[in-house]
Amino acid sequence: MIVINFGDLHCDTITKIFESESNIYENFAQVDIKKLSIYDEVIQFFAIWLKQKYLDHPFENTKMFIKYYDEQIKIYKEYFPQMKFFLAIEGGEALENNLANLEKFYQMGAVLLTLTWNNENDLAGGANSSCGLKKFGFEVVEHMNQLNMIVDVSHASKKTFWDVYKFSSKPFIASHSNCQKICEHVRNLDDDQILAIKEGNGLIGLNLYTPFIKKASSINLHDLNEHVEHLLNLIGSDNICWGCDFDGADDYPLGIKNVVDMKKVYNLFEKLYDKDITDKIFYGNLKKFLCRNQIL
Ligand SMILES: [Zn+2]
Repeated sequence: MIVINFGDLHCDTITKIFESESNIYENFAQVDIKKLSIYDEVIQFFAIWLKQKYLDHPFENTKMFIKYYDEQIKIYKEYFPQMKFFLAIEGGEALENNLANLEKFYQMGAVLLTLTWNNENDLAGGANSSCGLKKFGFEVVEHMNQLNMIVDVSHASKKTFWDVYKFSSKPFIASHSNCQKICEHVRNLDDDQILAIKEGNGLIGLNLYTPFIKKASSINLHDLNEHVEHLLNLIGSDNICWGCDFDGADDYPLGIKNVVDMKKVYNLFEKLYDKDITDKIFYGNLKKFLCRNQIL
C-alpha cells in the first residue's frame, strides 16, 4: 500500500471549534484526528488566532484557547503516536507588549509566532501597512531566536519581512502564503522574498484560500499547482510545504472540502512530478525543518 504522510503549518481549527464545544477527534470543521487518520504520519500545526471580540484581553484569551487545545490534545494524544501536533500563535498582539508573555507562551508549548495579522500591532506592520519591525518587534524576534521559536512572516508587511530577514539569526518561515508572481495579492510573496526564505533554509507553506491562488471565479487544483511549479523553478523542492489554512478561510479549490481531500492533491502531484518531490512537499521538508531546528 502506498504511504502518504501529511504535514501542515497552519490551520485555525482550534479557534473554530472552541465556541461550539466540539472536540479535536471528530468535529464539523475541516481538520480533526479522525480525518487526519487517513495519513500514515502527520505533522499538524494549530494556530490560535483571536477574533475581534477576544482582542480586549488578548493575553488572557490566548491562554484560554491554549488551555482548551491542551485539554483536547491530552485526551487523544496517546492513541495517535503517528501524529505530531504543534501550537502556534497568530498575531503578536497576544503578547500585550510584554516580553515575559512570550516566555509564558513558550512554556505553554507554543513553538511558532506569526508576528502580525494583516494590521499593524506592537511588534510590526502587517500586510495592510507599510511599517516594519518596531522596537518591541526586534526584541521579540531576538528572544524567539534564543528560545528557538519559529518566526513566521505570513501576514507581515514587506518592510517587516526584510527587517526579519536582516535581523533574525535563525531561519524564518512564511507559514501560509503563496506566490505574487502567479497571483498578485498583498498576502503573497514576491520572488525576492521567496529567494530570501530559501537562502535562510526556511519554509513556504502553500495556502489553499482561493483569492491567494488566482483571480477567477472557479479555482481548481491545476491553478494551485501553478504556485508549486513556480516555486520549483525558482528555488527547487527543499523549502516548500503546506500551510493549508483550513478552518481559517471560506473558499477552497474545487474538490477540496477538508484535510481528507489533500489526498487528491497528493495523487495529482505524484502524476505531475515524482513521488520524491511530492513526499517532500507533503511531509519531508517540514519534518526536516523541525528536526534541523531542534523542534522535533
Ligand atoms: Zn492567517
